[in-house]
Amino acid sequence: MQQERLLKVLVIGDLGVGKTSIIKRYVHQVFSQHYRATIGVDFALKVLNWDHKTVIRLQLWDIAGQERYGHMTRVYYREAVGALVVFDMTRLSTFQAVLKWKGDLDSKVALSNGRPVPAVLLANKSDQRRLGLCSKVPKLESFSQQYGFVGWFETSAKDNTNIDSAMSCLVKHIMSLQEDGLNSDPPPEGAVLVLPQFDYHSQERRHSSCSGCPSLKATDSD
Ligand code: GDP
Ligand code: MG
Repeated sequence: MQQERLLKVLVIGDLGVGKTSIIKRYVHQVFSQHYRATIGVDFALKVLNWDHKTVIRLQLWDIAGQERYGHMTRVYYREAVGALVVFDMTRLSTFQAVLKWKGDLDSKVALSNGRPVPAVLLANKSDQRRLGLCSKVPKLESFSQQYGFVGWFETSAKDNTNIDSAMSCLVKHIMSLQEDGLNSDPPPEGAVLVLPQFDYHSQERRHSSCSGCPSLKATDSD
């Protein structure tokens, strides 16, 4: 029998980085230059047939209007199991705000064992790369590792680049934590969470990485 999982995922980052566009692209396969900045919190639902026994109801929580404060209330973060932290690769200030958003996330929500919820970093508007910050931002690979992101992607909601990959990276991490019971139980004493290492040097020019992206365990009993 299929089971349903409801996953609350937050999409955070400064105003105008493309949060709403990313959600609309992922859920409705559309892009528009003009989304009204509705004030408040909104969410969209995407249903994923994850495997033969699991249907995921992915609830993507958008924000509008509160970004300018650089933080959200605990109510918004409550029961979230993962997040996308988005910046606009053409605007340095939005990259500088990434750590503020990650800090806000980690201070207001955690897995029940105290570990941070998985977060993926998105450098959005990659179709505008020519205006990009390539020389100004640190290498996202080392940056994202250093600050505890489980992966990073250069995305474009406009061109539909890497949006699905980023989402599935996040969902894989969330699901593997849940399947390992890490979301519910504290790790046994002395246990260390070891994720398989990703070979960062295997590609020349990289636009993404889902670090140690865990493949889900086979669902058949073995
Ligand atoms: P939000 O405030 O973070 O929700 O940002 P929006 O989704 O409203 O996007 C802000 C502006 O950036 C809008 O004009 C979008 O059309 C534009 N935008 C969003 N994503 C992209 C993208 O990937 N490429 C380009 N060129 N523009 C984008
Ligand atoms: Mg918005």
